[in-house]
Amino acid sequence: MAKVFITGASGFIAQHIVKLLLEQGHQVIGTVRSQAKGEQLASYIPKQFKSSFTFEIVPDIAAPHAFDAALQRHQDIEFLLHTASPFTYDTVNPERDLIIPAIQGTKNILEGANKYCPQLQRVVITSSDAAIYSNVDERNNKLFFNEQSWNNIKYADAVKDAVAAYYGAKSFAEKLAWEFLLMETPRFDLVAVNPSYVFGPQSWFCDPAHLNVSNALIGDLLDKKQGAGESSSEVSFENEIGGFVDVRDVARAHLFAMTDANASGKRLFMTNGHFSVQMMLDLINQHFPQLHLIKGTPGSGEKDISVLAQVENKATKQLLPWEFNSLETIVVDTVQQILDSKSKL
Ligand code: NAP
Repeated sequence: MAKVFITGASGFIAQHIVKLLLEQGHQVIGTVRSQAKGEQLASYIPKQFKSSFTFEIVPDIAAPHAFDAALQRHQDIEFLLHTASPFTYDTVNPERDLIIPAIQGTKNILEGANKYCPQLQRVVITSSDAAIYSNVDERNNKLFFNEQSWNNIKYADAVKDAVAAYYGAKSFAEKLAWEFLLMETPRFDLVAVNPSYVFGPQSWFCDPAHLNVSNALIGDLLDKKQGAGESSSEVSFENEIGGFVDVRDVARAHLFAMTDANASGKRLFMTNGHFSVQMMLDLINQHFPQLHLIKGTPGSGEKDISVLAQVENKATKQLLPWEFNSLETIVVDTVQQILDSKSKL
Protein backbone atom coordinates (compact mmCIF):
# COMPACT_ATOMS: atom_id res chain seq x y z
CA MET A 1 0.00 0.00 0.00
CA ALA A 2 1.12 3.55 -0.71
CA LYS A 3 2.21 6.64 1.22
CA VAL A 4 -0.19 9.45 0.36
CA PHE A 5 0.15 13.15 1.21
CA ILE A 6 -3.09 15.16 1.26
CA THR A 7 -3.37 18.93 1.76
CA GLY A 8 -6.34 20.52 3.55
CA ALA A 9 -7.06 17.21 5.28
CA SER A 10 -9.61 18.71 7.69
CA GLY A 11 -11.84 19.91 4.83
CA PHE A 12 -15.25 18.48 3.97
CA ILE A 13 -14.17 16.65 0.79
CA ALA A 14 -10.71 15.80 2.13
CA GLN A 15 -12.04 13.98 5.20
CA HIS A 16 -13.96 11.62 2.90
CA ILE A 17 -10.80 11.04 0.87
CA VAL A 18 -8.77 10.35 4.03
CA LYS A 19 -11.42 7.85 5.16
CA LEU A 20 -11.30 5.93 1.87
CA LEU A 21 -7.50 6.00 1.76
CA LEU A 22 -7.30 4.51 5.26
CA GLU A 23 -9.95 1.89 4.49
CA GLN A 24 -7.91 0.84 1.46
CA GLY A 25 -4.82 0.38 3.62
CA HIS A 26 -2.82 3.47 2.63
CA GLN A 27 -0.53 5.43 4.93
CA VAL A 28 -1.86 9.01 5.05
CA ILE A 29 -0.10 12.28 5.90
CA GLY A 30 -2.55 15.20 6.00
CA THR A 31 -1.82 18.91 6.27
CA VAL A 32 -3.99 21.02 8.55
CA ARG A 33 -3.75 24.65 9.62
CA SER A 34 -3.14 24.12 13.36
CA GLN A 35 -2.26 21.58 16.02
CA ALA A 36 -5.84 21.79 17.33
CA LYS A 37 -7.32 20.99 13.89
CA GLY A 38 -4.90 18.09 13.49
CA GLU A 39 -5.75 16.64 16.88
CA GLN A 40 -9.45 17.03 16.22
CA LEU A 41 -9.16 15.22 12.87
CA ALA A 42 -6.99 12.49 14.41
CA SER A 43 -9.64 11.98 17.11
CA TYR A 44 -12.27 11.08 14.44
CA ILE A 45 -10.13 8.35 12.92
CA PRO A 46 -11.26 4.85 13.88
CA LYS A 47 -8.94 2.96 16.22
CA GLN A 48 -7.83 0.37 13.66
CA PHE A 49 -6.50 3.13 11.35
CA LYS A 50 -4.92 5.48 13.93
CA SER A 51 -1.38 4.24 13.27
CA SER A 52 -1.83 4.92 9.52
CA PHE A 53 -2.55 8.64 9.92
CA THR A 54 -0.27 11.53 10.83
CA PHE A 55 -0.65 15.25 10.30
CA GLU A 56 1.62 18.16 9.44
CA ILE A 57 0.82 21.79 10.22
CA VAL A 58 0.74 24.22 7.29
CA PRO A 59 -0.96 27.37 8.59
CA ASP A 60 -1.15 29.15 5.23
CA ILE A 61 -0.71 27.45 1.87
CA ALA A 62 0.05 30.85 0.30
CA ALA A 63 3.13 31.56 2.43
CA PRO A 64 6.44 31.20 0.54
CA HIS A 65 7.62 27.55 0.50
CA ALA A 66 4.59 26.68 2.66
CA PHE A 67 4.89 22.90 2.19
CA ASP A 68 8.67 22.50 2.05
CA ALA A 69 9.28 21.53 5.68
CA ALA A 70 6.40 19.02 5.67
CA LEU A 71 7.47 17.47 2.36
CA GLN A 72 11.09 17.23 3.50
CA ARG A 73 9.87 15.07 6.39
CA HIS A 74 7.96 12.80 3.96
CA GLN A 75 10.25 12.49 0.96
CA ASP A 76 9.09 8.93 0.30
CA ILE A 77 5.46 9.79 -0.61
CA GLU A 78 4.14 8.14 -3.77
CA PHE A 79 0.93 10.11 -4.29
CA LEU A 80 -0.09 13.66 -3.48
CA LEU A 81 -3.65 15.01 -3.37
CA HIS A 82 -3.93 18.82 -3.25
CA THR A 83 -7.41 19.71 -1.97
CA ALA A 84 -6.58 22.79 0.17
CA SER A 85 -7.97 25.99 -1.27
CA PRO A 86 -10.36 28.57 0.15
CA PHE A 87 -14.04 28.08 -0.69
CA THR A 88 -16.07 31.03 0.51
CA TYR A 89 -17.86 34.00 -0.99
CA ASP A 90 -17.71 35.85 2.31
CA THR A 91 -14.80 38.24 1.77
CA VAL A 92 -14.21 41.94 1.19
CA ASN A 93 -10.79 41.22 -0.36
CA PRO A 94 -11.27 38.43 -2.91
CA GLU A 95 -7.76 38.69 -4.32
CA ARG A 96 -6.14 38.21 -0.90
CA ASP A 97 -8.57 35.60 0.41
CA LEU A 98 -9.36 33.55 -2.70
CA ILE A 99 -7.11 34.14 -5.68
CA ILE A 100 -3.66 34.39 -4.09
CA PRO A 101 -4.04 31.29 -1.84
CA ALA A 102 -5.39 29.20 -4.73
CA ILE A 103 -2.53 30.14 -7.04
CA GLN A 104 0.31 30.26 -4.51
CA GLY A 105 -0.90 27.11 -2.75
CA THR A 106 -0.76 25.17 -6.03
CA LYS A 107 2.63 26.63 -6.96
CA ASN A 108 4.05 25.86 -3.51
CA ILE A 109 2.89 22.25 -3.43
CA LEU A 110 4.13 21.47 -6.95
CA GLU A 111 7.53 23.13 -6.45
CA GLY A 112 8.00 21.44 -3.07
CA ALA A 113 6.97 18.04 -4.38
CA ASN A 114 9.26 18.33 -7.40
CA LYS A 115 12.19 19.30 -5.20
CA TYR A 116 11.84 16.89 -2.28
CA CYS A 117 9.82 13.82 -3.33
CA PRO A 118 11.71 11.61 -5.79
CA GLN A 119 9.27 8.68 -5.50
CA LEU A 120 6.17 10.76 -6.22
CA GLN A 121 4.23 9.18 -9.10
CA ARG A 122 1.14 11.34 -9.39
CA VAL A 123 -0.41 14.59 -8.16
CA VAL A 124 -4.20 14.98 -8.07
CA ILE A 125 -5.49 18.57 -7.90
CA THR A 126 -8.98 19.27 -6.59
CA SER A 127 -10.11 21.85 -9.10
CA SER A 128 -13.78 22.69 -9.76
CA ASP A 129 -16.46 23.08 -12.39
CA ALA A 130 -15.75 26.76 -11.70
CA ALA A 131 -12.59 26.31 -13.79
CA ILE A 132 -14.76 25.00 -16.66
CA TYR A 133 -17.22 27.92 -16.99
CA SER A 134 -17.52 31.40 -15.55
CA ASN A 135 -20.28 32.24 -13.08
CA VAL A 136 -21.93 34.23 -15.89
CA ASP A 137 -21.62 31.59 -18.63
CA GLU A 138 -22.87 28.88 -16.26
CA ARG A 139 -26.28 30.60 -16.44
CA ASN A 140 -26.48 30.86 -20.23
CA ASN A 141 -28.45 27.91 -21.62
CA LYS A 142 -27.19 28.60 -25.13
CA LEU A 143 -23.68 27.53 -24.11
CA PHE A 144 -22.20 24.03 -23.88
CA PHE A 145 -19.35 22.81 -21.67
CA ASN A 146 -17.43 19.57 -21.17
CA GLU A 147 -14.09 18.29 -19.85
CA GLN A 148 -12.20 20.35 -22.44
CA SER A 149 -13.73 23.70 -21.46
CA TRP A 150 -12.13 26.54 -19.51
CA ASN A 151 -13.69 29.70 -18.15
CA ASN A 152 -12.65 32.96 -19.79
CA ILE A 153 -12.24 35.01 -16.58
CA LYS A 154 -9.45 37.60 -16.63
CA TYR A 155 -7.45 38.35 -13.47
CA ALA A 156 -8.42 42.04 -13.58
CA ASP A 157 -12.13 41.12 -13.53
CA ALA A 158 -11.77 38.33 -10.98
CA VAL A 159 -10.45 40.64 -8.26
CA LYS A 160 -13.61 42.78 -8.36
CA ASP A 161 -16.13 40.32 -6.98
CA ALA A 162 -15.99 37.31 -4.65
CA VAL A 163 -17.93 34.91 -6.90
CA ALA A 164 -15.91 35.76 -10.01
CA ALA A 165 -12.78 35.55 -7.83
CA TYR A 166 -13.58 31.98 -6.75
CA TYR A 167 -14.28 30.89 -10.32
CA GLY A 168 -11.18 32.73 -11.58
CA ALA A 169 -9.00 31.36 -8.78
CA LYS A 170 -9.88 27.77 -9.65
CA SER A 171 -8.97 28.18 -13.34
CA PHE A 172 -5.80 30.19 -12.62
CA ALA A 173 -4.61 27.53 -10.16
CA GLU A 174 -5.49 24.54 -12.35
CA LYS A 175 -3.87 26.11 -15.43
CA LEU A 176 -0.76 26.78 -13.37
CA ALA A 177 -0.59 23.07 -12.53
CA TRP A 178 -0.88 21.92 -16.16
CA GLU A 179 1.70 24.54 -17.22
CA PHE A 180 4.05 23.41 -14.44
CA LEU A 181 3.93 19.92 -15.90
CA LEU A 182 4.76 21.17 -19.39
CA MET A 183 7.54 23.51 -18.30
CA GLU A 184 9.20 21.54 -15.49
CA THR A 185 8.59 17.97 -16.78
CA PRO A 186 8.62 16.50 -13.25
CA ARG A 187 8.75 12.73 -12.58
CA PHE A 188 5.08 12.76 -11.56
CA ASP A 189 2.01 13.12 -13.77
CA LEU A 190 -1.18 15.04 -13.02
CA VAL A 191 -4.95 14.53 -12.82
CA ALA A 192 -7.53 17.24 -12.07
CA VAL A 193 -10.86 16.53 -10.38
CA ASN A 194 -13.46 19.18 -11.28
CA PRO A 195 -16.59 18.79 -9.14
CA SER A 196 -19.71 20.91 -9.39
CA TYR A 197 -21.44 21.79 -6.08
CA VAL A 198 -20.51 18.97 -3.68
CA PHE A 199 -23.12 17.87 -1.15
CA GLY A 200 -23.54 14.95 1.22
CA PRO A 201 -23.02 13.80 4.78
CA GLN A 202 -19.80 14.55 6.66
CA SER A 203 -17.42 11.60 6.76
CA TRP A 204 -17.14 11.36 10.56
CA PHE A 205 -18.43 14.28 12.58
CA CYS A 206 -21.25 16.64 11.66
CA ASP A 207 -21.51 20.03 13.38
CA PRO A 208 -24.84 21.38 12.09
CA ALA A 209 -23.84 24.91 13.16
CA HIS A 210 -20.68 24.90 11.02
CA LEU A 211 -21.47 23.24 7.70
CA ASN A 212 -19.18 23.95 4.76
CA VAL A 213 -20.38 26.43 2.11
CA SER A 214 -22.11 23.92 -0.20
CA ASN A 215 -23.85 21.81 2.49
CA ALA A 216 -25.05 24.99 4.21
CA LEU A 217 -27.51 25.35 1.31
CA ILE A 218 -29.23 22.18 2.63
CA GLY A 219 -28.63 22.90 6.33
CA ASP A 220 -30.13 26.41 6.09
CA LEU A 221 -33.37 25.00 4.66
CA LEU A 222 -34.00 23.12 7.91
CA ASP A 223 -34.59 26.46 9.66
CA LYS A 224 -37.17 27.60 7.10
CA LYS A 225 -40.36 27.25 9.08
CA GLN A 226 -43.44 29.40 9.00
CA GLY A 227 -43.70 31.70 12.02
CA ALA A 228 -47.02 32.46 13.77
CA GLY A 229 -49.14 34.74 11.59
CA GLU A 230 -46.73 34.34 8.67
CA SER A 231 -47.61 32.79 5.32
CA SER A 232 -45.29 30.16 3.85
CA SER A 233 -44.46 32.44 0.89
CA GLU A 234 -43.26 35.17 3.28
CA VAL A 235 -40.34 33.00 4.39
CA SER A 236 -37.71 33.46 1.71
CA PHE A 237 -34.74 31.31 0.83
CA GLU A 238 -31.89 31.63 -1.63
CA ASN A 239 -32.93 29.52 -4.61
CA GLU A 240 -29.37 28.77 -5.77
CA ILE A 241 -28.98 26.67 -8.92
CA GLY A 242 -26.06 24.73 -10.36
CA GLY A 243 -24.57 21.31 -10.91
CA PHE A 244 -24.52 18.76 -8.08
CA VAL A 245 -22.50 15.71 -7.10
CA ASP A 246 -22.23 13.53 -3.98
CA VAL A 247 -19.11 14.01 -1.84
CA ARG A 248 -18.75 10.21 -1.65
CA ASP A 249 -18.49 10.06 -5.46
CA VAL A 250 -15.98 12.91 -5.42
CA ALA A 251 -13.83 11.09 -2.85
CA ARG A 252 -13.96 7.86 -4.88
CA ALA A 253 -12.96 9.84 -7.97
CA HIS A 254 -9.87 11.15 -6.16
CA LEU A 255 -8.76 7.58 -5.36
CA PHE A 256 -9.44 6.53 -8.95
CA ALA A 257 -7.52 9.59 -10.18
CA MET A 258 -4.64 8.67 -7.90
CA THR A 259 -4.10 5.12 -9.11
CA ASP A 260 -5.72 4.45 -12.47
CA ALA A 261 -3.32 4.52 -15.42
CA ASN A 262 -6.07 5.77 -17.75
CA ALA A 263 -6.69 8.83 -15.57
CA SER A 264 -3.26 10.30 -16.30
CA GLY A 265 -3.50 13.80 -17.79
CA LYS A 266 -7.31 13.87 -17.53
CA ARG A 267 -9.80 16.30 -16.01
CA LEU A 268 -12.59 14.42 -14.23
CA PHE A 269 -15.71 16.60 -14.48
CA MET A 270 -17.76 15.41 -11.51
CA THR A 271 -21.41 16.33 -11.92
CA ASN A 272 -24.61 14.31 -11.93
CA GLY A 273 -27.07 16.92 -13.21
CA HIS A 274 -28.52 20.24 -12.15
CA PHE A 275 -30.30 21.20 -8.94
CA SER A 276 -32.18 24.13 -7.52
CA VAL A 277 -32.61 24.66 -3.79
CA GLN A 278 -36.37 24.41 -4.46
CA MET A 279 -35.79 20.84 -5.71
CA MET A 280 -33.96 20.09 -2.45
CA LEU A 281 -36.80 21.62 -0.46
CA ASP A 282 -39.33 19.45 -2.34
CA LEU A 283 -37.26 16.33 -1.50
CA ILE A 284 -36.99 17.29 2.18
CA ASN A 285 -40.74 17.92 2.39
CA GLN A 286 -41.39 14.54 0.72
CA HIS A 287 -39.07 12.54 3.00
CA PHE A 288 -39.26 14.55 6.23
CA PRO A 289 -42.85 15.91 6.43
CA GLN A 290 -42.56 15.96 10.25
CA LEU A 291 -40.22 18.98 9.93
CA HIS A 292 -43.11 21.18 8.66
CA LEU A 293 -40.82 23.31 6.49
CA ILE A 294 -42.09 26.00 4.14
CA LYS A 295 -43.11 24.76 0.69
CA GLY A 296 -41.70 27.49 -1.60
CA THR A 297 -43.01 26.82 -5.11
CA PRO A 298 -43.16 23.01 -5.26
CA GLY A 299 -42.34 21.43 -8.61
CA SER A 300 -40.76 24.55 -10.09
CA GLY A 301 -37.25 23.07 -10.05
CA GLU A 302 -37.14 22.12 -13.74
CA LYS A 303 -38.00 25.70 -14.65
CA ASP A 304 -35.37 27.04 -12.21
CA ILE A 305 -32.59 25.03 -13.83
CA SER A 306 -33.68 25.63 -17.43
CA VAL A 307 -31.46 28.75 -17.55
CA LEU A 308 -28.28 26.76 -16.87
CA ALA A 309 -25.73 26.00 -19.58
CA GLN A 310 -25.69 22.51 -21.07
CA VAL A 311 -22.97 20.28 -19.70
CA GLU A 312 -21.62 16.91 -20.72
CA ASN A 313 -19.23 14.71 -18.73
CA LYS A 314 -19.51 11.54 -20.82
CA ALA A 315 -15.74 11.08 -20.93
CA THR A 316 -15.55 11.17 -17.11
CA LYS A 317 -18.48 8.81 -16.60
CA GLN A 318 -17.04 6.33 -19.12
CA LEU A 319 -13.81 6.29 -17.15
CA LEU A 320 -15.33 5.90 -13.66
CA PRO A 321 -16.85 2.45 -13.19
CA TRP A 322 -19.83 3.33 -10.99
CA GLU A 323 -23.15 5.25 -11.01
CA PHE A 324 -23.10 8.60 -9.20
CA ASN A 325 -25.59 9.12 -6.36
CA SER A 326 -28.86 10.91 -7.12
CA LEU A 327 -29.94 14.26 -5.69
CA GLU A 328 -32.54 12.38 -3.66
CA THR A 329 -29.93 10.13 -2.00
CA ILE A 330 -27.70 13.10 -1.31
CA VAL A 331 -30.44 15.25 0.24
CA VAL A 332 -31.95 12.44 2.33
CA ASP A 333 -28.57 11.28 3.71
CA THR A 334 -27.41 14.83 4.44
CA VAL A 335 -30.61 15.87 6.20
CA GLN A 336 -30.74 12.62 8.19
CA GLN A 337 -27.19 13.19 9.45
CA ILE A 338 -27.93 16.80 10.43
CA LEU A 339 -31.07 15.72 12.31
CA ASP A 340 -29.22 12.88 14.06
CA SER A 341 -26.43 15.29 15.07
CA LYS A 342 -28.90 17.89 16.37
CA SER A 343 -30.69 15.25 18.44
CA LYS A 344 -27.37 14.38 20.16
CA LEU A 345 -26.61 18.02 21.12
P1 NAP B 1 -13.49 23.11 2.94
O1 NAP B 1 -14.18 22.19 3.84
O2 NAP B 1 -13.53 24.57 3.24
O3 NAP B 1 -11.99 22.64 2.75
C1 NAP B 1 -10.97 23.49 2.32
C2 NAP B 1 -9.70 23.11 3.03
O4 NAP B 1 -8.63 23.96 2.61
C3 NAP B 1 -9.81 23.28 4.55
O5 NAP B 1 -9.09 22.25 5.18
C4 NAP B 1 -9.15 24.63 4.79
O6 NAP B 1 -8.65 24.76 6.10
C5 NAP B 1 -8.04 24.57 3.76
N1 NAP B 1 -7.56 25.90 3.43
C6 NAP B 1 -8.24 26.88 2.80
N2 NAP B 1 -7.45 27.96 2.67
C7 NAP B 1 -6.28 27.67 3.25
C8 NAP B 1 -5.07 28.39 3.45
N3 NAP B 1 -4.90 29.65 3.02
N4 NAP B 1 -4.05 27.77 4.11
C9 NAP B 1 -4.19 26.50 4.57
N5 NAP B 1 -5.31 25.77 4.38
C10 NAP B 1 -6.33 26.35 3.73
O7 NAP B 1 -14.07 23.00 1.47
P2 NAP B 1 -14.29 21.74 0.53
O8 NAP B 1 -15.64 21.90 -0.02
O9 NAP B 1 -13.91 20.47 1.16
O10 NAP B 1 -13.26 22.11 -0.64
C11 NAP B 1 -12.09 21.36 -0.91
C12 NAP B 1 -11.65 21.64 -2.31
O11 NAP B 1 -12.71 21.27 -3.21
C13 NAP B 1 -11.34 23.12 -2.61
O12 NAP B 1 -10.21 23.14 -3.47
C14 NAP B 1 -12.59 23.61 -3.34
O13 NAP B 1 -12.30 24.67 -4.22
C15 NAP B 1 -12.97 22.34 -4.11
N6 NAP B 1 -14.39 22.28 -4.51
C16 NAP B 1 -15.39 22.28 -3.57
C17 NAP B 1 -16.72 22.21 -4.00
C18 NAP B 1 -17.87 22.18 -3.03
O14 NAP B 1 -19.03 22.34 -3.45
N7 NAP B 1 -17.66 21.95 -1.75
C19 NAP B 1 -17.01 22.14 -5.38
C20 NAP B 1 -15.95 22.13 -6.29
C21 NAP B 1 -14.64 22.20 -5.87
P3 NAP B 1 -9.56 25.42 7.24
O15 NAP B 1 -10.88 24.70 7.22
O16 NAP B 1 -8.79 25.17 8.46
O17 NAP B 1 -9.72 26.84 6.87
